[in-house]
Amino acid sequence: MTERIQEFLRNRRKNGLDTEPCLVVDLEVVRDNYQSFAKALPDSRVFYAVKANPAPEVLALLASMGSCFDTATVAEIEMALAAGATPDRISFGNTIKKERDIARAFALGIRLFAVDCAAEVEKVARAAPGAKVFCRILYDCAGAEWPLSRKFGCDPEMAVEVLDAAKRLGLEPCGISFHVGSQQRKVKAWDRALAMASQVFRDCAERGINLTMVNMGGGFPTKYLKDVPPVVTYGRSIFRALRKHFGNQIPETIIEPGRGMVGNAGIIESEVVLISKKSDEDEVRWVYLDIGKFGGLAETMDESIRYAIRTRHDGADMTPCVLAGPTCDSADVLYEKNPYPLPVTLEIGDKVLIEGTGAYTSTYSSVAFNGIPPLKTYHI
Ligand code: PLP
Repeated sequence: MTERIQEFLRNRRKNGLDTEPCLVVDLEVVRDNYQSFAKALPDSRVFYAVKANPAPEVLALLASMGSCFDTATVAEIEMALAAGATPDRISFGNTIKKERDIARAFALGIRLFAVDCAAEVEKVARAAPGAKVFCRILYDCAGAEWPLSRKFGCDPEMAVEVLDAAKRLGLEPCGISFHVGSQQRKVKAWDRALAMASQVFRDCAERGINLTMVNMGGGFPTKYLKDVPPVVTYGRSIFRALRKHFGNQIPETIIEPGRGMVGNAGIIESEVVLISKKSDEDEVRWVYLDIGKFGGLAETMDESIRYAIRTRHDGADMTPCVLAGPTCDSADVLYEKNPYPLPVTLEIGDKVLIEGTGAYTSTYSSVAFNGIPPLKTYHI
């Protein structure tokens, strides 16, 4: 946790404003992260994945530093534009779009669209004539803590057909995209994906389609409980893979970091509402917080993301705990399969600090379940 966040939380408590959980994001950390990406992958353009944290302060900072933006909806496009990005710095990276949204994006000046099947190409050709399209290929995401499913992308062989269809319909087929899975701990995960992309480049060239761009997606990890390799290690490995698969004809490249850009910049402060056991014999304690899966901690589902949690009792003996959120939904339980060690001295009313929560938290907390307001956020 940065000094700035510590001071902010101290003042919030002093002024009696700590009655609800909140997320505090240190923009200086986001700034450092952007610079690290730019340095680690100097030849790649950074398209920040807006979905990770669309706060206007984050978008404005990144826009001012020269970032481009990967967006999934018209609303995200409008947020990126409002933050100062020009349309040529925005991609509509969602492969599943309503035709009227494609038309709206086109009217807003967007010219770069993701596709993964012929039906989507037809929509883009009608609603955004002449636009550039890249085709997303499937990847199995081994090594990722938050793997992405088969929801997006197609087989590489089909990608060739999709790009061919785009050309026939007057679009500009420009490249390939993939995502190696979010919170990807394997530095070498990009190697096989780039091998697949280079094969699509060769197959397309045989049909007279000259692709020029590879969108290497997100997946760069943030630190939760375990340390992760620095982004420069990923950069070196990716560069080696590009040389290996594309020789001296390395195409234009894009990266779309989300979690790796904002994850470690945020801390959630929450309060212990109740501590209990289910029976006298139980070893495991239940710690009820004022935030849970529906208040921003949705990524604890499947227990794949294990946040680092700090309390004022750090250093005390630990005991296994199941955490639970404040809503009436019985699914609002965290870490029941693998209980989380928390200090035995933890008390009702204590604050807990949940680290690494700058990404994929505030956006998951938009519903006022049980009248609980969406997560309060501060960007400092
Ligand atoms: N790009 C696309 C197309 C995505 O779907 C996502 C996440 O779902 C990202 C980028 C951001 O990924 P990450 O947060 O792992 O960097």
